[in-house]
Parts: sequence; structure tokens; C-alpha cells
Amino acid sequence: MEPRANPTTVRGRYAPSPTGTLHLGNLRTALLAWLYARAAGGAFVLRLEDLDLPRMRPGAAARMLEDLRWLGLDWDEGPDIGGPLGPYVQSQRAALYDATLGRLWANGLLYPCYCTRAELARLASAPQGPGDEGPPYPGTCRRLSPRERAAREAAGRRPALRFRAPRTPITFVDGVAGPVTERVVNAVGDFVVRRSDGVIAYQLAVVVDDALMGITQVVRGADLLGSTARQLALYDALGYPRPTEYAHVPLALDAGGERLAKREAAAGLDALRARSLSASKVTGALAASCGLWPPAVPATPRALLATFDPAHLRAEPSHIAV
Ligand code: GLU
Repeated sequence: MEPRANPTTVRGRYAPSPTGTLHLGNLRTALLAWLYARAAGGAFVLRLEDLDLPRMRPGAAARMLEDLRWLGLDWDEGPDIGGPLGPYVQSQRAALYDATLGRLWANGLLYPCYCTRAELARLASAPQGPGDEGPPYPGTCRRLSPRERAAREAAGRRPALRFRAPRTPITFVDGVAGPVTERVVNAVGDFVVRRSDGVIAYQLAVVVDDALMGITQVVRGADLLGSTARQLALYDALGYPRPTEYAHVPLALDAGGERLAKREAAAGLDALRARSLSASKVTGALAASCGLWPPAVPATPRALLATFDPAHLRAEPSHIAV
């Protein structure tokens, strides 16, 4: 069995994908994750989620760590400082994901899926499911015979691996959204854990990492609320204890009320530093934008910690004015 952290200690994390610059919304999520963990006297872990290599940008990871440090955040374990449960970079954890897939496969919980994107789009005549995931997978490849599989392999098709979604509802309490119940089989159906190009899917990697890194507290953007039931289904299937705390914190909007996109470099710290804005002004603005601090008052993360109360967090998406 792989090493596990002592589960009685709160362990939070921030897990950015180095696909570009951290924008103010990402920085606010990082700050909140840090505050939740530190306020609970917990450890804070930084992990880089870089599995989707074509989407990664050279230098982005180092920049992200620099930006987080500039804000005044610190972490106890991470890609730059190591730690007992590393490596803390997903691209260095392939063996762990493969072992986990092997375990799920041996338990009959996976099957190869040969459907192409185009086929899935054609099947999708039903109205869209929740979020931007599209309709639930109809189960086309669930019961292929060995002969049907062989025919698809012979035609050169490379399968994705899908996890058989549980029929029983998944229930959890989110610190921001409240109680959530989702029947994964209805919401998304059997979902991909390894893509047809061999890349391990986020849903699997995040569970393996959070479980093996002993993460008890998951604080992340509200865009991932819809992934949580799938992840809990994987925790259950793997026999891992679920994280004890989830909080999906509000997303940031631009001045026009649209969701901030990662590539919007103007919203990154460079533009603010060019205006000679200090880290404490930016930190104060991040906290003020979600109701945790008075507007236009500089703050350090340590100062915010003294008054941090998740009950004061405003749940609605909001613009971060700096
Ligand atoms: N890597 C994901 C992102 O950058 C976050 C994953 C998570 O926090 O579970 O959006």
C-alpha cells in the first residue's frame, strides 16, 4: 500500500494546471484554499496538474509558484520543496495512476470505450445534462462482446477507459453550496478515466492524488462542484476514505460580468505589478471581492487569517476590482 498521511490532521491543497498565467480568480481560489487550511491549523499542499501536456505552457508552473509566493502564500509540501507524499507533479505520478486503473479493472469497474467524439455528438440527441459535460454517456460500449472489441481494435481504434458509474446516489455537503445529491449514472453516466490518447483523466488523477496525499479538505473553484460526485464514486470504489470537507468557492467575473478565462493575461499579476500595485493591495482586493475584508484596505494573508470565517464568504460569483 502506498504511504498515506495521518488522517486526523487537516490537509488542504491547491492544484493548479500550468496552462497559462494565474488570473485573479485563480489567485482568489488559492488564497481561500490557504485560509481554509491554515484557519483549521492544517497543512497546505501544492500540486501541479500537468497531465494534459499539449495544453501546458513552458515556464507557467514556475511562474505560478512565484505568483503565489508573491501574494504571501506558503505551503508545507509541493513541487519545489518536496515532501513525504510526493512527487507533487502529476506527470511524475504515472505509475500510481496505472496501478489504480489496474485495481479498478481487476474489480470489473472499467471497460474500453471505442466511441469517437463525432459518434458521441451524434448520439447526443437528448437535452444536455448539468454543466458543460454534454449528455450522459449512453453506455454504447458497456456490453461489447470480445469479438466486437477485437473488431474495433482491428480497425485501429484506440479505446478510452470508462468507469461504471454507481446507481446509488452520491451525497455530500459542500461548505458553500450546501447539501448535494447526485446520481452519477444519470448526470454523466459511465465516465472516462483514461482518454483514448492514453492521458489519465482529471477525475481519476485528482482522486488518486488527493487520497494518497492524505487531503482531507478540498477547496477549489465552483466550476468543479459538478465533478465532486464522480470523484466520490471513485473514492468509494477504491476504498479510500472521502475528504471530510469540500468547499467550492465562487468564480471571478470580469468587469462585464463574464467568467474570467485563464488565458486573459491582462488579469494576471504582471499587469498589476506594472501598475506598481503591492501584494497587500492585491490580497486585500481578493478578500474584499468575496466579502471577507473591507474594500480598498491592503491585507496580508496572515492578517486575513486572524478574522477568517468561511461563514462570511459571499457565495455569488463576483468581479475582483483592483
Ligand atoms: N487543476 C484544476 C484546475 O486548475 C483544479 C483541480 C482541483 O482543484 O481539483 O482547474
